[in-house]
Amino acid sequence: MTTENNPNYKLTLSKEEMQRYGYKIIDHIVDHFETQNSKKPVAQASRAEMDSLLTENIPNLSTPAHEVLDFVMDQVIPNSNIVSHPKSYSFVPGPSNYISVMADTIATGFNIFSGGWAASPAAAELEIVTMNWLLEIFGFPTKQGGGIFTSGGSMANLTALVTARRIKCRNDFSKATIYLSDQAHSSNIKAIKVIGFKKEQIRIIPTDMEFKISLNKLKNIIAKDRLEGLQPFCIIASAGTTNTGTVDPLDEIANICENENMWFHIDGAYGGAAILASNGKKLLKGIERADSLTVDPHKWFFQPYEIGCLLVKNHNWLSSTFSEKPEYLRDIEGNESEINFYDHGIQLTRRFRALKFYMSLKTFGLASFKKAITYNIDLAEQTEILLRKSALWEITSPATLAIINFRYNPIGQNLLEEELDRINQNISKKIIASKEALLVTTVLQGQVVLRMCLINPRTTIEDIKNTLKKCEIYGEEQLLATSNT
Ligand SMILES: *Cc1c(COP(=O)(O)O)cnc(C)c1O
Repeated sequence: MTTENNPNYKLTLSKEEMQRYGYKIIDHIVDHFETQNSKKPVAQASRAEMDSLLTENIPNLSTPAHEVLDFVMDQVIPNSNIVSHPKSYSFVPGPSNYISVMADTIATGFNIFSGGWAASPAAAELEIVTMNWLLEIFGFPTKQGGGIFTSGGSMANLTALVTARRIKCRNDFSKATIYLSDQAHSSNIKAIKVIGFKKEQIRIIPTDMEFKISLNKLKNIIAKDRLEGLQPFCIIASAGTTNTGTVDPLDEIANICENENMWFHIDGAYGGAAILASNGKKLLKGIERADSLTVDPHKWFFQPYEIGCLLVKNHNWLSSTFSEKPEYLRDIEGNESEINFYDHGIQLTRRFRALKFYMSLKTFGLASFKKAITYNIDLAEQTEILLRKSALWEITSPATLAIINFRYNPIGQNLLEEELDRINQNISKKIIASKEALLVTTVLQGQVVLRMCLINPRTTIEDIKNTLKKCEIYGEEQLLATSNT
């Protein structure tokens, strides 16, 4: 078709078409929020099934808009896990919230360029404003401190390590060594590799029985590296590990970093938000001493994907690490107080992530976020009490920042470790096959265990009891099968 007889080349719809199309989508989304609890949270499909459903040739000609939309709503969306479902317990759930969903729609609808001040002063200002809220929440200096919203925790960790390397090593990091525990999130190792460190420069420190980094081993290896003429330059602590919610001893690690002139990065992507609960705040003592801190609003600050965040003690560290002065950005450089976020991180073109954080926090109020996070922490503790009272279950790691790990191990059965591993793996397989709950295993101290991450404020203790009851039935089936062989 030539452009003359193809009116579609302008990629527009009429006003009425846009409205009808948009309202229909809103109806779908609202319906999802209203009915998700009665749906099944698990979607499972093979590559072959998805190929046969979705593979098609490049569509050269147009298709009616409502047809494409109906297809997506019928075939694409249902083939994803519902991570905001109350019985979605695994990985890190994404509870989300409607205000932020609409905020993202506005940000996309107006296609706000959130790279530089000149293009969108209010968007840059809102990023400064919300960043200042976060700096205050985490006890960072609001004048000197700074930060940036990223796509997620992985990008925030990467941004932090590029900054740390620049400030501590300048242009030569050939002798630099970096330290993190065996429970640190894999995105940190990824980031270390991305920035060009060799395996020999990475020190994985073992954890103790409580999954905290072993301080003694950390100090020993730093001392040894110094004797060998290496440059220990950064320690990454976890403020809430993804496996168990464990917080490393932050104050002690801060002391080591001070004494050794090392960069202190805290990965609080999972647990950072717990600072809003009074018991969480106690566990996170020392978090304010980090040079850089990753938090991840699309986890426990209830934001839809994608929004991560990096906070730093001194905002100049970011600009001195990431500023480039290409001639094509000359005219929009502006004055120094007018921050160009493209100078504070890796992305130039950036979506307006601050908007959803701003609108949801303002609409619901920080007090609601505090209450939700406190509820989540309590819910995990109630679950621990429930499990401890039962003769069927054993706690592997106690409720910590809303995460609990446990396994089916009925008293008096004296099962072998490999039988326990198999039984618990199968409990998870069965519950997932039923699609009733998303509950997968992890491995702790060599044992296969079930892990619940309870950061959805709409999950109730009844949901958990209900899921555990199903697991007990599957467990008993497994027991019978074991004793029959
Ligand atoms: C989830 C997580 C990350 C990675 O964050 P993404 O948003 O998934 O990129 C990093 N660290 C910890 C501790 C996490 O839980």
